[in-house]
Amino acid sequence: MKKEIQEKCKICGKPVTEKFTPFCCARCAQVDLGKWLGGAYAVETQEEPNHDESEGLS
Ligand SMILES: [Zn+2]
Repeated sequence: MKKEIQEKCKICGKPVTEKFTPFCCARCAQVDLGKWLGGAYAVETQEEPNHDESEGLS
């Protein structure tokens, strides 16, 4: 008998597709990637105004 382990998509919870593991489709994989990029961008923008402020303080 063939044993199947059905994992669920991290984004939408649908069964994953082997091609897009650990996601069900390319769209969900892109959503996850967007989260990472969005987070990195948010951290970068927080640092910039801080640096600018300390320079204008003197
Ligand atoms: Zn999905």
